[in-house]
Amino acid sequence: MMYRQLADVYEKLEATTKKLEKRDILSELYKKCSSEELAKVVLLSMGVVYPRGELELGIANEMMKKVIQNIYGIDKHELEKKFKETGDLGLTAEFFIRHKKQQTLMKRDLTIEKVFENLRKLPKITGVGSQERKIALISELLSCAKEKEARYLVRTVLGEMRIGVAAGIVRDAIAKAFNKEPKDVEHVFNILGDYGKVAEMAKKGKMKAEIIPGSPLRVMLAERAPDLKTALEKFENPAIEMKYDGLRVVIHKQGSSVKLFSRRLDEITKQFPEVVEWSRKLIKADEAIVEGELLSVDSQGRPRPFQLLSRRIQRKYGIERMVREIPVQMNLFDLVYFNKENYMRKPLKERWKKLNEIITEKKGKFQLAEHIETKDFKKANKFYHYCLSKGEEGVMVKNLDAHYQPGKRVGYWLKCKPIMEPLDLVIIGAEWGEGKRAKWLGSLILGARDSETGKFLPTGMLGSGLTEEQLKEITKKLKNLIIEEKGRVVRIKPEIVVEVGYEEIQQSPKYPSGYALRFPRLLRFRENEKNPEDADTVQTIKKLFNMQRGRK
Ligand code: AMP
Repeated sequence: MMYRQLADVYEKLEATTKKLEKRDILSELYKKCSSEELAKVVLLSMGVVYPRGELELGIANEMMKKVIQNIYGIDKHELEKKFKETGDLGLTAEFFIRHKKQQTLMKRDLTIEKVFENLRKLPKITGVGSQERKIALISELLSCAKEKEARYLVRTVLGEMRIGVAAGIVRDAIAKAFNKEPKDVEHVFNILGDYGKVAEMAKKGKMKAEIIPGSPLRVMLAERAPDLKTALEKFENPAIEMKYDGLRVVIHKQGSSVKLFSRRLDEITKQFPEVVEWSRKLIKADEAIVEGELLSVDSQGRPRPFQLLSRRIQRKYGIERMVREIPVQMNLFDLVYFNKENYMRKPLKERWKKLNEIITEKKGKFQLAEHIETKDFKKANKFYHYCLSKGEEGVMVKNLDAHYQPGKRVGYWLKCKPIMEPLDLVIIGAEWGEGKRAKWLGSLILGARDSETGKFLPTGMLGSGLTEEQLKEITKKLKNLIIEEKGRVVRIKPEIVVEVGYEEIQQSPKYPSGYALRFPRLLRFRENEKNPEDADTVQTIKKLFNMQRGRK
């Protein structure tokens, strides 16, 4: 298929806000694809070339500007002027093709195959000269692109499609194109985490979601409970577990091979050799997939700040030293696969029993999560306070009769933490400082996701109280994510999740979400743990607001 055809589809998608129309446009497109190109087209229609966003293309606006200048032979001033006007480098590139018509542009037509191939190479290029090699790959594509193609190519590279295609629309389009039920498509997606693969299966008519040890699975998610009492009442047979504040890790064991994946489905095996070793020795199974929370702990086994664990996740070299300096502890709480058998459809009671059978504990290192089973509020409350006294976040109340639902918040797990607990929000904007702080970005604009539209809506500004160290760190992280600048205010691509503490939620007509946080403060960055889609939603904030009001 030619890239031109896809560009036409992008344009149609951009032109409508109606979800059903978008679904129909996409389903027509998917139907037309050959088996070879379908998965690629599905991913590109979502604006990505890797299914899980695990490999960001890593191209910032500045690099893109250089490419555009070189290809169309324009100077910086001209480019900046147009960019300010359009606020979009895609439209800027399109404008220059239309008006410059530089002779050097190539005549070759772009295929989907070629675009996909070049973009896929980008995140893998590292080391000396990587910038030049990346520029060459993008330039090769852009020099063949016609007007509309350039608009969407640039946007794809920058990860900013502006066509309003959320995962739900892709799911429904696949279902419609290949006569499947959306819920079945979603179920397979929840196991595979890749709509490209799911579409291929749907086209073949074989939609079996097989667990394959060694390939990452999406994990089950929790909902917030207003309080412990309400949570206990929800289930006939509740289990209460310590809620550890660390990193969710899924361990895949196959014979002597062990792989570790994060909740974002990134592989983190190399960073934690001790966990690999424990898994090899202490999981009694030929094949198993188990999961738990990894913590960094002090010599007394008390949790240490998450930042330390982050250092271990990011570390590529000198791992052995890290193992000594930042010891970790694995707390296991679930099992989804055991010796060729899928355990997802079994109730938690059975999964927990099997987990207990196959784990040989090494206390303080590799152990089962602290877990009690009771419906008695007094006992549960005592356990809850015990967890808090241990420096942990709170408890998880789980339905022992419920199956494992990957990738979803279905209310089988309820988290209970002290009220006015922090929120996970996404940085969607910022402001350049003034005077001494002019070179730093501060005053973060925080966004909560609207679960209905997938958009991030502002819920407050976080400015005061940031140290110079923090400002430096923030500027470093945000610089490459700037989408648009107007005066001192910049719009930031919603990518970085931060945990934010606050005193109260207030209703606010000033903010598009309708709510504002009073005295927000930055607790920590959560970019290694959470994707923007995992951040708290406007709907959650509304719920918390109502709970807070009810309490007063
Ligand atoms: P939250 O990140 O606030 O949405 O809470 C859900 C997360 O808590 C899970 O993704 C796990 O990483 C973590 N967690 C800690 N302890 C447990 C536990 N006992 N059971 C399930 N999840 C847990």
